[in-house]
Amino acid sequence: MQLQDVMKHIPRKRFGQNFLVSEGIIRRIVDAIAPQRPDHLVEIGPGLGALTEPLLAGLDHLHVIEIDRDLIAGLHERFPPEKVTIHEGDALAFDFGKLGNDLRVVGNLPYNISTPLLFHLAGFVSKVRDMHFMLQKEVVDRMVADPGGSEFGRLSVMLQYRFHMERLFIVPPGAFNPAPKVDSAIVRMMPKPASDLQARDEAMLQKVVTSAFSQRRKMLRNTLREIVSEEALLALGIKPTARAEELGVDDYVRIANKLVDAQENSAITGA
Ligand code: SAM
Repeated sequence: MQLQDVMKHIPRKRFGQNFLVSEGIIRRIVDAIAPQRPDHLVEIGPGLGALTEPLLAGLDHLHVIEIDRDLIAGLHERFPPEKVTIHEGDALAFDFGKLGNDLRVVGNLPYNISTPLLFHLAGFVSKVRDMHFMLQKEVVDRMVADPGGSEFGRLSVMLQYRFHMERLFIVPPGAFNPAPKVDSAIVRMMPKPASDLQARDEAMLQKVVTSAFSQRRKMLRNTLREIVSEEALLALGIKPTARAEELGVDDYVRIANKLVDAQENSAITGA
């Protein structure tokens, strides 16, 4: 990417445009992804191509998804269609399933949509080999947080349920143009094998986790009052006086499964 390209395009805040300009950081990201020729790689938000070009150097083909029409025009000029398939539109509405299996998803993500995008992508976990993203450091810290601290929340539980995650390195504001106000970080997400996903109904897991963290300073016996009794929590070995952040991912799965059991039993007995 040339500096004049960065200067020509006026970055759009509403699309979360902070373009990477540090060659050293770009190299570290591409090295962490380590593309191999036949990989099925998808880049979200290629922008001015800061990552696209060095990624493509190690690939036969690359898919990109970009929402900004001005940037799409530049991408068409720069990359031949047999090397880069450009999908125009919103990554939040994109059907990643149509790109096949064993996908490697990467991107310096627009920060304003990063959380909904992570939840959207979690729906395609069975199609994904791995994902590497640049996000606000604060978001990455919440994703990889262990139980017990204030960073551990709904995002931590729902993503850790499906992925092994690792914070690779921190990227300072000076690596971008325009420079964001906060540090960023690179996270690696590897889907867990299906046999590790023990929740019998993920919607139920989501419901329990959302309720528990709806008022994170309150005790579970209050936040979960509507959906699970104190007796049921005690039977699972979970203290009703605990707060949401004190439970591990497995505890949430056990509560959700217990509720599914109860639903099924009441369906059978008509109770
Ligand atoms: N990859 C480039 C880089 O590292 O310099 C650009 C990164 S910039 C942080 C985010 C990119 O995502 C921009 O190109 C922006 O237009 C694009 N984008 C924003 N919202 C999007 C959406 N909903 N779907 C697809 N792309 C989006």
